[in-house]
Amino acid sequence: MTEQQVAPVIPAQGRGFRAFTAKHLDQLAARAGLSDTDRLTVRAVATVLPFRTNEYVVERLIDWDAAPDDPIYRLVFPQPDMLPMGDVEPIADMLARGAPDREVQAAAHAVRLRLNPHPAGQLALNIPAMSDEPLPGVQHKYPETVLVFPKQGQTCHAYCTYCFRWAQFVGEPDLKMATDDMTRVTAYLRAHQEVTSVLITGGDPMIMGAGVLRQYIEPLLDPQLEHIESIRIGTKSLAYWPQRFVTDPDADDTLRLFEQVGAAGKTLALMAHFSHPRELEPEQVSTAVGRIRSAGAVIRTQAPLIRSINDDAETWRTMWRAHLRLGMVPYYMFVERDTGPQGYFAVPLARAAEIFRDAYASVSGLCRTVRGPSMSATPGKVCVDGVTEIAGQKVFALHMIQARDPSLVGRPFFARYDPHAVWVSDLRPAFADRFPFDADQSGHWQSELLAPAS
Ligand SMILES: *Cc1c(COP(=O)(O)O)cnc(C)c1O
Ligand code: SF4
Repeated sequence: MTEQQVAPVIPAQGRGFRAFTAKHLDQLAARAGLSDTDRLTVRAVATVLPFRTNEYVVERLIDWDAAPDDPIYRLVFPQPDMLPMGDVEPIADMLARGAPDREVQAAAHAVRLRLNPHPAGQLALNIPAMSDEPLPGVQHKYPETVLVFPKQGQTCHAYCTYCFRWAQFVGEPDLKMATDDMTRVTAYLRAHQEVTSVLITGGDPMIMGAGVLRQYIEPLLDPQLEHIESIRIGTKSLAYWPQRFVTDPDADDTLRLFEQVGAAGKTLALMAHFSHPRELEPEQVSTAVGRIRSAGAVIRTQAPLIRSINDDAETWRTMWRAHLRLGMVPYYMFVERDTGPQGYFAVPLARAAEIFRDAYASVSGLCRTVRGPSMSATPGKVCVDGVTEIAGQKVFALHMIQARDPSLVGRPFFARYDPHAVWVSDLRPAFADRFPFDADQSGHWQSELLAPAS
């Protein structure tokens, strides 16, 4: 494979961070050895789905000798066969004949609308209200946990090809759900004493500098919010930009902020997204993990199971063991959600349960804090425990890890076995005429769940 000149770098955030965007895609895809035709198709895919990566991912994580099959390459680079050809070819033709950008964007927008851009009722169902006014940038789905989407944290150091929040990164307007009004957020939290955990999420909140992050975290340390026991930050920065905790100018300030959370009597938990053990190899990652832990924060790890990136037990076993070695706690294995290129990345639930079990069975009990494979669906987090046979019928055994209706948590239930099922909407109840969560809210969720996945 010929090593091409890397695309010119563009400075971002003045922290030595270099991002690569769609305009660098052709050169980078050439470095992966893609043909002219495939490069054009990949550019067409990137008009529909977001593309962004950075110099660290490109130079330190991707194995270019193995590209385009390399899992980290596949994690961040659009694939020519990721979307239906009928959708992509017309856009590729437009690009080839230099069609006006407006025409390309209109076609891309039409494709996006077919990709279920807003899964699991995120927009309408989970936004709470205060004094009858909606509280945008906040989601309150499970009684004990509130999600906060900071306005300046709605991008990432790189984008994952399988991201379920892809729509917001390509500016599909109605998903701009973010807040910078912590006064309203804390007022809401004071009025909701049942909330014990605040999860700051994005995008990636660690894209924010320490000063901005502080504006979201410090208000949560107010003595009037004593009922908040933990503050979580969902982030992929340990994989995509570990410098954030080591050499960035505000790395020390960030760790001081984490210490402050501990000093206020709360736990700071970094919910770290790792997709593949390769992401743990650079020395900067162990240094970052060590520094975060010395600041008194805990790191829990999670990722979705993705076809062609991490869909085998050995990958997860290696990853969980590497987490444990560094002092991180395995937390969730997710099922790829019903949005975007789900058809491309989906792993059948039966196979997902098998991969989970094979990996889980071969790690020490300290790794068995992990749960999954779990689907974050409209009624809650549905865990596939496995395939079994009951009274001569092959079924999936399932339970809810989280539910809008907490009385459903942890109760086993069953679905008819279906080797092709990839999401809860593909499942049909076994030994019952409906799922436990279908009864929730007088059957309100049933119709949504039975709607086609995408
Ligand atoms: C997963 C999730 C949470 C957190 O659930 P835990 O089981 O506490 O990790 C909170 N809110 C939403 C919407 C979620 O999807
Ligand atoms: S880091 Fe998370 S939010 Fe960002 S692109 Fe990846 S999956 Fe999406």
